[in-house]
This record gives sequence, structure tokens and C-alpha cells, in this order.
Amino acid sequence: MTFDFDLFVIGAGSGGVRAARMASQAGARVVVAEEYRVGGTCVIRGCVPKKLFVYASHFSEAFEDAAGFGWTVQKPEFNWQTLLANKDTEIDRLNGIYIRNLELAGVELIEDRAVVSDANTVHLVNAGRDITAERILIATGAAPFVPDIPGAEHAITSNEAFHLDNLPRHVTVIGGGYIAVEFAGIFHGLGVETSLLYRGEQVLRGFDDDLRYGLAEELLKKGMDLRVHTSVTAIEKTGEGLRAVLEDGSSLDTGLIMYATGRNPNTKGLGLEAVGVDLDRKGAVVVDAYSKTSVDNIYAVGDVTDRVNLTPVAIREGAAFVETVYNDNPVAVDHSGIATAVFSQPELGTVGLTEAQARDQHGEVDIYKSSFRPMKNTLSGRDEKMIMKVIVEPSSDKVIGCHIMGPDAGEMAQVLGIALKMGATKAQFDETIAVHPTAAEELVTMKERWTPPAAAAAE
Ligand code: NDP
Repeated sequence: MTFDFDLFVIGAGSGGVRAARMASQAGARVVVAEEYRVGGTCVIRGCVPKKLFVYASHFSEAFEDAAGFGWTVQKPEFNWQTLLANKDTEIDRLNGIYIRNLELAGVELIEDRAVVSDANTVHLVNAGRDITAERILIATGAAPFVPDIPGAEHAITSNEAFHLDNLPRHVTVIGGGYIAVEFAGIFHGLGVETSLLYRGEQVLRGFDDDLRYGLAEELLKKGMDLRVHTSVTAIEKTGEGLRAVLEDGSSLDTGLIMYATGRNPNTKGLGLEAVGVDLDRKGAVVVDAYSKTSVDNIYAVGDVTDRVNLTPVAIREGAAFVETVYNDNPVAVDHSGIATAVFSQPELGTVGLTEAQARDQHGEVDIYKSSFRPMKNTLSGRDEKMIMKVIVEPSSDKVIGCHIMGPDAGEMAQVLGIALKMGATKAQFDETIAVHPTAAEELVTMKERWTPPAAAAAE
């Protein structure tokens, strides 16, 4: 049987674009369909514009800190429209690069919504025509999930936060994951009074407790209105803005409510179930270690599979798919030990197991940790501490987790990720001569094992 193409990729985000380019370079005839903008969530309304906003929001503290180093700074003024326009220019530039890279790789790009109509056929919704392909790759990503409460339609998500006409005086962010803490930090840094409402015990569930509680302490010190054990049951429109009705019966008046309560895989209306592709309870495409779905010639990579929902993971999955299918070199992506950063303020960087996970998996573990004032804060006078934590498996001496809160924590996590992947031991950390003066030197100079207070009292 002959097909129009060898590979039809649905979705031109990080995973889809990588797979399309590599498959084309491997000799396949590839077409990719995108219904919004080439680049996907990360480039268009995720990692990239978010990081630009994080940079912007850091300046308020930088201006304050400058005084301790002898600088006199006029009262700084911030212009949201300038930031938006510059951000849009940069996103347009990246979008153009992505399109050009697809063209250069010989991939055909179709700007349309694509729906799977049988195992080898994709229907283009706006063009109203069908295209056949030997294989189909689903790389449609995920979209924000907003709980179904009365008035939820008045709230925004991170999608809209990138295009607000104006910044309100007060904003309320709901959620406690990456997006919630990152955007709460952005708004607060840009001078907006910020409430961050989280339903559970502490934000960033799943991260190491020292970082979670350390971050919460710093957010409160900065004056952010962080409330845990707080749920919103309804949203009402008021004359001036919005009112969040809270579970305890109280309410919070605010100018803007942003939900950051997780994301759902984009599989609705894609026609997948009808052709026999299994989806899980959340609607994510179920795949094997090689990203193959329950239908032999249909694959899926990235957030739509809800494995580890991070851009570099989607890219790696896209590349592994091509290696496996087109280069006769089966590659299963290793989803363990992935370093990650939360661009909260202060920033978090983490790789490997949390203390709780390490105790769970290994029983006894050795903990080394340090909490200190970074050097810059001596002259700036900023009351913000840094946290470093190293977790060691005693019998092998292997470092199995590193957790950092403070400036450049994400940069450090990337480098530590290499050391942990190589199976570095605490002795090797200790043998490494420090780079002085840096904060990171703390990672190779921590000698004292930390003893939990209860155990210390018993000794
Ligand atoms: P997360 O899954 O990280 O967090 C969702 C948060 O919303 C949790 O705190 C969760 O609480 C809370 N929540 C879920 N449902 C409800 C509800 N019905 N009512 C109230 N709160 C609720 O999702 P995000 O949206 O923050 O981010 C999505 C993904 O995007 C992340 O998992 C991450 O993989 C990726 N990302 C990565 C970034 C980075 O690398 N820096 C930046 C941004 C996103 P609970 O803990 O109780 O479940």
C-alpha cells in the first residue's frame, strides 16, 4: 500500500518538531500539522515567555539591592506594555526559526487542525481533506485544567497571562505547582499585590520538604499573601473586579484570578479512541517504553502521554522515537533522575530523590544540608537565605539527591544532573576542590551529617 507520507506528526511543539526534523533527515517523507503556532507551549506560551517575565520581575529587587553597593537609583518605573511587546517580538523570532528549521529539514508544514480518522488517515478539519501516512505521531501537548466551580469562566490561566492588557493592583493565583509559584513570583516582582492560594499542606508537593517550606518562608517574608489549606468554591464578579469565595466562608477581593491547577493532555476530539488508541483516566495516550500506542503504527510523545511533562523530555522522546523507528536503533528514554528547576523567587533546582523518597526506597540515608545567607546579601542587606541539601545512600556512598534553593539553583541542578547520572559518590564530591567564592562550593564542602532533631535529642 502506498501513502501520501511516511510520517504524519500532529502538533508542532517541542516533541513533534524534533521528531519531524529528525525523521525527515533520516529519509522519511514527513508532514506536520499545527492548529495554533509552531513552537508549541514551551516557545509560544510557556517556558520561554515565562522566563522572560521572570527576568523582568527580578529587577525590582535588583534595584533595591543596588543601594548597598553604592548605587543611587531613581524610583524605577515599570511598563507592562513594553515588556509584552518585547516578549512578543522574541516569540515571533523563535516561531520563525522553528518554521525555517522545519522547512530546511524538508518537512511539509500544514497550518490546520488534524484529526485521526483511521490508523493511516488524518483529516484536516479546515481544509476538509484527508492525508494518508504509514505512521502517525501524536504530539499535541496539554492544556490548562480549570476546576468546574461557579464563576470559573471569570478566571484566566497562564495562556491568557501572557497577553493581559494591564496588570491589576491585586492578583490571586490558585494552585501550588510549578506554574502557580512561578507566576505568583512574576506578579509580585512586577509590583502586583499577590495572593497564592493552595489547597494542601504546602506548595510544590513532590519536591523536597526543605525546599517547599524554605520557599514558603521566603515568599511570606517578601510580603506575598501565601495561604495553604485554602480552596476557592466560587468566583463572583464585583463592580471593581472579582471576588474569590473561599471554602471557610470568607472571601477575597482581587483584580484577577489565575488558575494554575495542572494541565490535561490534548486528546479531546482527536479521534484516537475510535481507531483503537488507548487513553488513560486523564485522557493521556498510553504508550510503551518506545512511545508506541496500542495501535502498531501510531506513536505519541511529550505532554500528551503524561509521563514527565517537561520540554527536554518531550524532545528526547521525539528523538528516541526516530532512532527506534527510522534508524533501526531502539531507544527507550530513561525517565529517572531528571534534573528540574522551578523559576520561583527564590529559584529551586533539584535532581534525584527527595529525602522522603530516599528514606522510602533506601531506609537509612545520610543527609547533608546547609542554609546560609548568600554573599551578595551581606551588602544588599536582603534577608533571603539559600538552601543546599545533598542526600547520600550510605552503603554505596552514592549521591542520590541534590536540592537547592537560591540564585541560579536551576543552573546548578543541570550540572549536578551530570554528576548524579554518572553515579558520583559523596567522597568524589568531597575530593572536588571548591570554586571560591561561590554558593555552589557549599555542595563540595559539607562535611557534617545532619541529624534530625529527635535523633539528636536522643543521643
Ligand atoms: P502541577 O501538576 O505541577 O500542579 C498543579 C497544582 O494544582 C498542584 O499544586 C495541585 O494541588 C493543584 N490542583 C490540582 N487540582 C486542583 C483543584 N481542583 N483545586 C485546587 N488546586 C488544584 O501543574 P502546573 O499547572 O503547575 O504545571 C503543569 C506542568 O507543566 C508541571 O507538572 C510541569 O511538568 C510543567 N512545568 C514545568 C516548568 C518548569 O520546568 N520550570 C514550569 C511550568 C510548568 P495538589 O498538590 O494538592 O495536587
